[in-house]
Amino acid sequence: MKENTPIQEIKSPILDENGVRLFIKRDDLTHPEVSGNKWRKLKYNLLQAKKEGYQTILTFGGAYSNHIHAFAAAGKLYGLNTIGVIRGEEHLPLNPTLKFATEQGMKLVYMDRTSFRNYKEQIPRLKKELGDFYMAPMGGSNSFALKGVAELGEEINAFDERVDYVCAACGTGGTLAGLITSLDSDTKVIGFPALKGGEFLYDDIKEFIKESFVEEKVDWTLNTHYHFGGYAKKKPELIDFMNEFHHKHHIELERIYTGKMMFGVIDLIKKGFFEKGKHILCLHSGGLQINR
Ligand SMILES: *Cc1c(COP(=O)(O)O)cnc(C)c1O
Repeated sequence: MKENTPIQEIKSPILDENGVRLFIKRDDLTHPEVSGNKWRKLKYNLLQAKKEGYQTILTFGGAYSNHIHAFAAAGKLYGLNTIGVIRGEEHLPLNPTLKFATEQGMKLVYMDRTSFRNYKEQIPRLKKELGDFYMAPMGGSNSFALKGVAELGEEINAFDERVDYVCAACGTGGTLAGLITSLDSDTKVIGFPALKGGEFLYDDIKEFIKESFVEEKVDWTLNTHYHFGGYAKKKPELIDFMNEFHHKHHIELERIYTGKMMFGVIDLIKKGFFEKGKHILCLHSGGLQINR
């Protein structure tokens, strides 16, 4: 598992014209299957499960979630049995995410959408049926996750260029919460929700921070304009942008999280949102297995 991932500068006439510099934190390089923020969020959960003597770890997620993918692979690497509780019914043949998860040894359990909405209430029943386990919540976002993401924040703080803005894609907001509570106070954080109606994340992020007994250190905001219609919608404009970005900068993005965030950042640069002279750092949070 690779930490202290590189930070790479992007060169483009658009940046020169608008007087800003753009850097990418290459957290897509942590591990091919446990990439980016998923590794950051899982690390201390896995260590905690081991410390408490658990042999099995369980989590919750959608049938296409990067979290399930990473959780299965990380559990295997750490010698822990994994159970994935999947939202909805079983569909055969398994999709590539779930097929990969079972190949890592993950046991899949399905939960109807109504029960899934309050999945934490189902834990006692699951323990009765499946035996004892260490539970990591959906998306892996809890106080141990914030601790792991804080290490990412520290790596950014140690970068030898000034960083004025850190931009990151949001699903549950756990990653953003970890950045908000670890970056140097003169950095501003902008989160780009992948979901439509991402304003609910303001409350969720504040809740993660409160539950973790840590403090907000920086000014932060959400930009909810770049969801492209929702979680997994394929918009040609977005796909074209990602292909062009890959071609020009040799950095692959994916359409659910990092593609949208990067599109948003470049669009904001073109619109003059960032003041001249500013340094912007985008988090490449990984998740590239979805392109395969
Ligand atoms: C899961 C994921 C996110 C969202 O992370 P949260 O902590 O849930 O906000 C962002 N980018 C990628 C690539 C992801 O896989």
